[in-house]
Amino acid sequence: MASKRVSVIVIGASHAGLAVSHKLLRQAPKASITLINPSDEYYFNISAPRFLVKPRSLLPNQYLYNISETFSEYPSGSFTFVKGLVTKIDYSNKSVLVATSEKSTTESDVISILFDYLVIASGSTTPATLGQGSLKLPFKATPFEDTRKAISEAQKKLEVAKRIVIGGAGPLGVELAGELAEASAEKIITLVSKSSSLLEGATETVKRTAESLLRRKNVEILKNVTVDQVQEDPETKSWMVTLSNGRIITADQYISTTGVIPNNKFIPTSFLNHDGWVNVDERLRVVEDGTSRSDTYAVGDITCLPYRLLSRVPLQGATIASNIAADIAQDARIATYSADAQKKMMVVPVGQSTGTGHLGRWTLCGFLVWLFKGKDFLTYKAPKFLRGKE
Ligand SMILES: Cc1cc2nc3c(=O)[nH]c(=O)nc-3n(C[C@H](O)[C@H](O)[C@H](O)COP(=O)(O)OP(=O)(O)OC[C@H]3O[C@@H](n4cnc5c(N)ncnc54)[C@H](O)[C@@H]3O)c2cc1C
Repeated sequence: MASKRVSVIVIGASHAGLAVSHKLLRQAPKASITLINPSDEYYFNISAPRFLVKPRSLLPNQYLYNISETFSEYPSGSFTFVKGLVTKIDYSNKSVLVATSEKSTTESDVISILFDYLVIASGSTTPATLGQGSLKLPFKATPFEDTRKAISEAQKKLEVAKRIVIGGAGPLGVELAGELAEASAEKIITLVSKSSSLLEGATETVKRTAESLLRRKNVEILKNVTVDQVQEDPETKSWMVTLSNGRIITADQYISTTGVIPNNKFIPTSFLNHDGWVNVDERLRVVEDGTSRSDTYAVGDITCLPYRLLSRVPLQGATIASNIAADIAQDARIATYSADAQKKMMVVPVGQSTGTGHLGRWTLCGFLVWLFKGKDFLTYKAPKFLRGKE
């Protein structure tokens, strides 16, 4: 007689949820995985600075992929994809409630799924993604929103905008400034940095190189300045950007590249730290009121771990898959994850052909940045992340 399958629910099918699902399917033949996501497409958001600004540089099939197709290799019964949004976790019967449409009102629109193990991979969003105090740009997918439509609308707005202000000079702000300045010589770009340099956290050489590459592309750089207020005129749709140095810029578009917002509405508050991120221990088990749960894990941006980066996801995914697989097999082996043990890296293209960055203490020259990321904004790696092979 076949032994009973162990039910694992994974919430969120972006980089982190996909990594855990694939790795677990390869390691735990007794696991039956249900992956839940509001869209049936995987969105490789990493390349957004390139294709939002230069629509013809990358094709949609390089950054949008069908999720279910990539699971066809596994035995039947081992994987199910559910298109929907988890609205509640109920530990009284170990289930999640899933809304299958945006306005799920009738009982048939809300389904309940039972689990033995739960993995929370619901990630984060940004103010710009939601259009909060910024031009609305799909830096992440938004539940039940048509990502293709959001991309196309954003591309059109960026194409016609001449005067653009970017708030925030981290990697995303620098990448966007480089792409915009290169897209058209008629665009006038201002990049606002609250600190005395660009790319806070990078090495001094990398900070200086980013600044000089952008200045060569005629990007105006304001340092030690914050954006105090932004206002969009409802009629003209232009933006009034008030800076801390007293200057007011009227721009066709204002883009905020700062802020991360946890996708945590459905998560019990007892799992969250004071900023709304899920507390985890070194095995990536969720910590509730100081005690690690044996049935719930969290991975990727939604965790309290530092450095919310794609480059952190594969190792975290492998850690959780190993721990759940070992638990199912009643194997005492334990995998642990340390954010500090992972080498720090930053790779920032500044336009198509150059950029800057570092791997640990090694500075990357413009050619290496182009080779690793700038040439197609890492889309060559998207199929690997989609299949959990990174
Ligand atoms: C524009 C941009 C560029 C970036 N570039 C880089 C880079 O070059 N290098 C790098 O290392 N990192 C980069 N990052 C960071 C990287 O995008 C994140 O670290 C990564 O997306 C984290 O993946 P995740 O799967 O944890 O979360 P997310 O990508 O946020 O995905 C979460 C998923 O969960 C789904 N979800 C949310 N709520 C629910 C729910 N209630 N029920 C079901 N599903 C739900 C969402 O729809 C989504 O599909 C970039 C970020 C941005 C915004």
